[in-house]
Amino acid sequence: MPGEPSRLSKSRYLAGLQCHKQLWWRVHEPEAPELSPTPGQQNLFAQGRDVGERARRHVPGGELIDLPFFQYDDKVAATREALKREPPAIYEAWFLADDTYVGVDILERTPRGHTVIEVKASNSRKPEHLPDAAVQVHVLRGAGLQVERAEVMHLNPECRHPDLSNLFVREDVTALVEGALIGVPDELAAQRRMLEGPLPDVPIGEHCTRPYDCPFLERCWPKLPDHHVSKLYRIERKRALELEADGYETLYDLPSDLELSVIHARQVRAVQTGRMVVEPTLAKALPQFASPLAFLDFETVSLAIPRWPGCRPWQQVPVQFSAHREERGRGGSLVHHEWIAEGPADPRPALAEALVEACAEARKVVAYHASFERECLKQLREAVPRFAKELERIEKRLVDLLPVIRRHVYHPDFGGGFSIKKTLPALVPGLSYADLWVQDGEVATVELQRLMLEGDRTPPAERAARREALLRYCERDTWAMVKLLEKLRSLVADQLELF
Ligand code: SF4
Repeated sequence: MPGEPSRLSKSRYLAGLQCHKQLWWRVHEPEAPELSPTPGQQNLFAQGRDVGERARRHVPGGELIDLPFFQYDDKVAATREALKREPPAIYEAWFLADDTYVGVDILERTPRGHTVIEVKASNSRKPEHLPDAAVQVHVLRGAGLQVERAEVMHLNPECRHPDLSNLFVREDVTALVEGALIGVPDELAAQRRMLEGPLPDVPIGEHCTRPYDCPFLERCWPKLPDHHVSKLYRIERKRALELEADGYETLYDLPSDLELSVIHARQVRAVQTGRMVVEPTLAKALPQFASPLAFLDFETVSLAIPRWPGCRPWQQVPVQFSAHREERGRGGSLVHHEWIAEGPADPRPALAEALVEACAEARKVVAYHASFERECLKQLREAVPRFAKELERIEKRLVDLLPVIRRHVYHPDFGGGFSIKKTLPALVPGLSYADLWVQDGEVATVELQRLMLEGDRTPPAERAARREALLRYCERDTWAMVKLLEKLRSLVADQLELF
């Protein structure tokens, strides 16, 4: 709605419900860089569109208002015409009333009126879905439509491919929406007034991240000093605020007699002395990493609409792995194994076979945050029963590097976290992810999905570059574990020398 700052829409209304200042920026600075979606968000939007289209099949026989997104008035007019034909449903129906546009995912005819169906790509109904449905009902009634019922139609976590007949759950939210309707007209009026004035003054608070992370966090939230108290490992926001209120802004300010958890005490000690803390107990934690070792990491994709047997909506499905394996009797020399899915077919049987081969003969299988690898292995066992025994053996041999670091080591550069992205550059200077094209798991997931599902629409050179980037990213994860374990062993050796 460029040039029409006072005209509202469903998405504007919802942004304004979270924060008027956010809405003001969205309307007056629509080109703000913060509003460009990240690759992860783009992926969510695309999957949401797929879910929306699939939902129509579950309310069949409808008419689609198929016009470009920005042609609001044309869509409203086309909806008006469609209503005259009285189809059983209208998909992407658009309405304007109370100076507010709303699009309805599915408008279903009932014997005496209509049902508004809001389709959500989530696995459950959430509180934030109610104001979404409420503003639609408000506008539709304002436009003269008899709305009898409101529903949220979300994905069903019980659904299992290939039976997608129960992919959706339709929840009747009519009573809740009737309650939520009460405040809608006043809020719309308040938003309209606010948009006609200057940028409103709204203090920061819980609303900045609820129900969604505000894109303008960096504009409003002050930049925190290094080692701010909120950087204490997994500290609750409330506790960090208490510490600040007591006059402690950073970890340097904390007094020695303050009661802290073991990990926090170690973190504070490392920061206040400016030196890495290595507990003497580290030596006892390392013998579990008994050679020959395999270092293992999976990458996954997560699809709203399941594609492979046994999968449920949004299940994280392993589609790539990297493994560095120490060779028996060859002085611990490492051989690298890797596998990546390349097309839309079920990747799990071939992946499982390659994985079993890669981990054969390893006495222990090292992972970083092993619960993730354990879950992937469990899924693979169910999906590929012919390798169930071998996969179970891998699962039983898993050893986790992350808790070893968390319980025994803190480097001031960890910055309050123990993810491999934090611990690797601190413990192994010169090795990080900064030189890679794919640098984090979120981007890896999106690129993997593209490699698998858009391969036939991608130029071969681009596809090859994407594949290579993904392979190097996953390889870096397992190489990082190799170097981290080496570092931990050298720290123990240094301690022994001291005594
Ligand atoms: S960061 Fe918070 S106060 Fe600032 S615009 Fe966003 S929600 Fe509003």
